Amino acid sequence: MTEVPSAKCAVVIVAAGSGQRLGQGVPKARVLLGGEPMLVHTVRGVVRSGIASQICIAVPAEDAAMEQICTKLVGEFGSKTDLQWSIVAGGADRAESVRAALSVLASDITTVLIHDAARPLTPAGVFDRVSHALRDGAKAVIPALAVVDTIKTVVPAGLPGTGAGVEKVSGTPARSRLRAIQTPQGFDVDTLRRAHEHAQSLDAASAALITDDAMLVEALGEDVYVVQGSTHSLKVTTPTDLLLAEAMLAGPLRPRWIEG
Ligand code: C5P
Repeated sequence: MTEVPSAKCAVVIVAAGSGQRLGQGVPKARVLLGGEPMLVHTVRGVVRSGIASQICIAVPAEDAAMEQICTKLVGEFGSKTDLQWSIVAGGADRAESVRAALSVLASDITTVLIHDAARPLTPAGVFDRVSHALRDGAKAVIPALAVVDTIKTVVPAGLPGTGAGVEKVSGTPARSRLRAIQTPQGFDVDTLRRAHEHAQSLDAASAALITDDAMLVEALGEDVYVVQGSTHSLKVTTPTDLLLAEAMLAGPLRPRWIEG
């Protein structure tokens, strides 16, 4: 019988975004949450999940403060585990940051999870669900939440009386089939590499529409499977998100919060 090589998982944390919508004047991954940079919480969550044999962090190029944070993190965890750490300079968009990270993964890595640094409170249960589905044969897995708001598509329009520029509704997809997608998104590493190679042939307008890795795998015609995400795994984007994350971390929400 041929021996099946054991799956080795890398987790890529993309932390090279500018975070302008938070309005704090520093890259989002450096914004403080509970007195520590957001990235520290994200990395701790990944280490705690116990699924990674390599952790690769994509950081803004020439950001000395971010490099210092990463050096401290490697110091905190490096001596206690046999985890391999890699720090790479990210790119102009998220996909470029992912590609930079893929280029430094160890040759024995078989699966990879791509995780936003901006999701500092993702519970271990989400990492587990994604990696289990990969072990069960999926080549692409994403965590999701059912959508609570009604979602509409819109097109640019002018008001009938004045022509004042607004938008008007062009459709209302059935809410029961809509999902809000989170990270970590998990992939067979060869499939994700193929998806990113394919993406490099896209024109600038199509490339600008790419907001996650799963979209690229969908474009290859591969099945992308969905597992349960978590409301804890919110993407900290606006000042309101930051307040909510603070409350989840240490404030009044914590004792009542039991979701996995
Ligand atoms: O901009 P958005 O909120 O979608 O970013 C999601 C994640 O992608 C963030 O963690 C951000 O740091 C990362 N990112 C990146 N490189 C970029 C842009 C975003 O690593 N050029």
